[in-house]
Amino acid sequence: TPAGVPADASTGAAECPLPAVVGSDLLVPLADGRQVPYANLDYAASAPCLEPVRAAVAEALPAYSSVHRGAGYASRLTTARYERARHTVRAFAGARPGDAVVFTRNTTDAMNLLARCLPEGTTVVVFDSEHHASLLPWPRAVRLAPPASPGEAVRAADEALAAIDGPKLLVVTAASNVTGELWPIAALAHVAHERGARIAVDAAQYAPHRRLAVAALDLDYVAFSGHKLYAPFGAGALVGRPDWLAQAEPYLRGGGATRNVADEVEWSTDPEQRHEAGTPNVLGAIALAAACEALTATGWTPIVRHEERLTARLRAGLPEGVRELALWGPDHPRIGVVSFTVAGHPAREVAEILSTEYGIGVRDGRFCAHPFVRALLGEEGDCADGTGAAVRASIGIGTTEEHIDRLVAALHDIVRR
Ligand code: PLP
Repeated sequence: TPAGVPADASTGAAECPLPAVVGSDLLVPLADGRQVPYANLDYAASAPCLEPVRAAVAEALPAYSSVHRGAGYASRLTTARYERARHTVRAFAGARPGDAVVFTRNTTDAMNLLARCLPEGTTVVVFDSEHHASLLPWPRAVRLAPPASPGEAVRAADEALAAIDGPKLLVVTAASNVTGELWPIAALAHVAHERGARIAVDAAQYAPHRRLAVAALDLDYVAFSGHKLYAPFGAGALVGRPDWLAQAEPYLRGGGATRNVADEVEWSTDPEQRHEAGTPNVLGAIALAAACEALTATGWTPIVRHEERLTARLRAGLPEGVRELALWGPDHPRIGVVSFTVAGHPAREVAEILSTEYGIGVRDGRFCAHPFVRALLGEEGDCADGTGAAVRASIGIGTTEEHIDRLVAALHDIVRR
């Protein structure tokens, strides 16, 4: 059975196998010298590469050259592959035909690019529950407290946007990297537009786990990262309306973003070219596009079923003494992200024990979402030294029942210590 294929045929996933992930047979050393198969439960940080992604990169390696400026065979082939990747990413995002797809380094880069493209006087509204990538690029943003319910999120956004004159932008995550909870982005897009605002969605965690639908959900911008989407590092995308991008200062000043350079510089008005100065990360774009294609070909139903089944198994197995972090309660729909604290054991200690004694990889800390984790931890988060932290297990295509069962058993051991 390829890694990640659920054994349970009743899930329907067996007829439509999930793609294999690279490194699913990795062995890791334990403190006692034994070697065990790695249980990677850290997909939300960076997901392992899919086999079809590795194949696409290997296929592109023998003949590559700089894009957009060469007449040679390798240059033309590379240009075609790069632009095809852009087309694939646009389709994967479910974008409108005229939407721009700017290749960036990652979600952080995409959000910072968008921040540079805001029309003069734009006010940004953002929830404090955002990842820093979406919280920090707008230093003068109106910041809203993490809402107590999805309905309150919509009401709070509506109220804040109604009080603002001039151009405005609502920035919100589609799936939290801390709690995994899915946000009501369609309803938020609706109120944003009613109030004359645009909406930018951080889809870093959403894109690997649910179908993106920019046009259908009426989103203005989405940002996501290849390395969370089963491709290696270094490529992400900002997808969305071209007009703000076409009129903004180029993100980087340099070759490739220009039409003509004399005493005056004539910048490209093409929103993609304008913000992609310098030789782009073509292999990163090819890898990102290959991941988009592999996920689309697999279909979202088996992916979601596989992840939901394993997430439910993990949550059902958590021992007493383990407190899950959730903004909207345990029953709110979420991707396979489960963050928790273990009574009497600091997060770092738990993560280290899981790694060195059980071969399990999780993340611990505040997940680049300090205000949110502090709010969720309450008193636990108010340590004088600011170290209030949690452990995060996150699930993806290569996760197996054995990984989950090993984590559950390890947590039972830890709480008994
Ligand atoms: N947004 C969310 C919700 C994330 O989880 C992350 C990464 O953890 C980011 C943004 C930033 O992604 P990157 O580090 O790829 O820029």
